[in-house]
Amino acid sequence: MPSYKAPVRDMRFVLHEVFGTGFFAETEALSDFTPDLIDPILTEAAKLCETVLFPLNRSGDEEGCTLARGQVTTPTGFKEAYKLYCDGGWPAMGCKPEFGGQGVPKTVVALVEEMVAAANLGFSAYPGLSYAGAVALEAHGSDALKAAYLPAIVDGRWTATMCLTEPQCGTDLSLIRTRAVPVADGYHITGTKIFISAGEHDLAENIIHLVLARLPDALPGIKGISLFLVPKFLPDGSRNAVECGAIEHKMGMKGSATCTMNFDNAQGWLVGQLHKGMAAMFAMMNKARLSVGLQGLGLADISHQNALAYARDRLQGRALPGLQGDGSADPIIRHLDVKRMLLTQKAWIEGMRALAVWIALALDRRDHAASAADRAAAEDFVALMTPISKALFTDLGSECTHLGVQIFGGHGYIREHGMEQYVRDCRITQLYEGTNGVQALDLVLRKVPEGDGRLLATFCQPVEALMAALSAVDWAAETLPAFRSAYEQWQQATRFITSAPMADRMAVASDYLRLFGLVALGHVWLRMMQVAAVGGEDFHRAKMATGRFYLLRLLTQADGLSRAILTGGPAVSQFDEALFG
Ligand SMILES: Cc1cc2nc3c(=O)[nH]c(=O)nc-3n(C[C@H](O)[C@H](O)[C@H](O)COP(=O)(O)OP(=O)(O)OC[C@H]3O[C@@H](n4cnc5c(N)ncnc54)[C@H](O)[C@@H]3O)c2cc1C
Repeated sequence: MPSYKAPVRDMRFVLHEVFGTGFFAETEALSDFTPDLIDPILTEAAKLCETVLFPLNRSGDEEGCTLARGQVTTPTGFKEAYKLYCDGGWPAMGCKPEFGGQGVPKTVVALVEEMVAAANLGFSAYPGLSYAGAVALEAHGSDALKAAYLPAIVDGRWTATMCLTEPQCGTDLSLIRTRAVPVADGYHITGTKIFISAGEHDLAENIIHLVLARLPDALPGIKGISLFLVPKFLPDGSRNAVECGAIEHKMGMKGSATCTMNFDNAQGWLVGQLHKGMAAMFAMMNKARLSVGLQGLGLADISHQNALAYARDRLQGRALPGLQGDGSADPIIRHLDVKRMLLTQKAWIEGMRALAVWIALALDRRDHAASAADRAAAEDFVALMTPISKALFTDLGSECTHLGVQIFGGHGYIREHGMEQYVRDCRITQLYEGTNGVQALDLVLRKVPEGDGRLLATFCQPVEALMAALSAVDWAAETLPAFRSAYEQWQQATRFITSAPMADRMAVASDYLRLFGLVALGHVWLRMMQVAAVGGEDFHRAKMATGRFYLLRLLTQADGLSRAILTGGPAVSQFDEALFG
């Protein structure tokens, strides 16, 4: 049976030693969040995840959700776990204090989100979507809507959903058909939404749907879409005309109910401005994209933890002379191919965690920095890194969970060991909140060219400053040139991406996103090594050795990616569709 130990030591290293929380101390709204307060939050979250949520992960997957007469029943134990989650104040963690939230820095929230997703991805959907809904309402709701709905979402009595997808419309939201007709008090919403996470369940007293719909006279396409709040129960306690018609039978993430929601003249209220629904929904989607990236990271981590324990225990074959033990067979961790797989997981995971913290700190700066210029720069950095973290972390999450199965050999394919669940669960993270292909297009077509490279500058400046700072440092003599070479390849690829014909750019967008992500991970690895180089613990020595592996081994993928970007586009764009046969 698998186990889970939240990586609190590594989180503290990245947060306190590498990036530092000095910004919190300088900022009135965050000044309470000293390491003395942050560390117990992480420890308590770890306890909840290890002892309450993780034990329900396998049973939640086996049992799944059921639907009867419009009511969804979540797996055994989820209700009690959700109550403990709310009693502990976890839903309120990142929300604003004026609505009962705790105003915890987004950086700390992100670390907790990683743990919750690792421990039980199915469970994480219920509070996860709610938090994203609270963020959208905080940003775009009227004062009356905020007063009526936010406090109960913030304390977890009610949960929120995000209703975009319809049968004919997934990526392309301009095809939305759900209708909103103005009535005396608000709007009547009619239509069918599919694939709605936590659309119906038995964990909370009310479910607040945030629904994209269009008015009868709205312009066609994206410009005609508005956002509405549609509660399951109306303020007077009566039932609104929204029902769950079906739940999906899925590959993974079975503890989360994925619902078809039918709205039949349901009472709703406008969120934000008419016809500006996409802008309001983007507040929720961008928040959710960062969270989905953290899901990929969490699943990679739990897969690695269990693969490592297995590789130390499983005896097969003889290792190279010098690595052999006393028995007739050695632990498989001593076989260099197994060691390569474990190191690959470790290097991806610790790199992703550091990159996640860098981005989350920018979220806190965006919300709280004293000067408008600092807030704008942080906003630019977050906008640039959102598609990268969503797609890169979930692609690498999937790669890591596959490696976890591989390290277990045939036993990884057998349900009993739990490793195959991580593969199945992780697969959805590459698809929802905008597929990873769509993230790559967002990066290439919007974020990179935006403001003539203004967003890019927020990445390049710290990267180039660190390269300069390390140029004469002994420990970096071997690894810095490897990074510099990848960075130069990325610069060349970026020039191509901003100047090549549209078709060639689009055809290599995913390669470019991965190259960008690998270089960003290389940078945070150097930052971690800079700190670890002067640390005296085995933990720090492990950082140096893992960073070396990342920079000398994994980052060499930049060579192939940059060639694919510079010359590979036409091989896709010029391929005649008819030749598929
Ligand atoms: C378990 C689960 C939970 C979900 N939860 C929610 C939820 O809570 N709320 C909600 O609203 N939705 C939810 N979704 C829906 C999810 O966000 C969509 O499935 C996803 O956005 C993709 O849409 P689609 O499935 O229609 O695929 P399509 O849009 O049909 O895409 C199919 C393929 O074509 C590619 N593609 C499409 N358009 C383009 C383009 N312009 N350029 C390049 N490639 C393109 C895609 O990348 C993909 O590979 C959920 C889905 C699942 C499976």
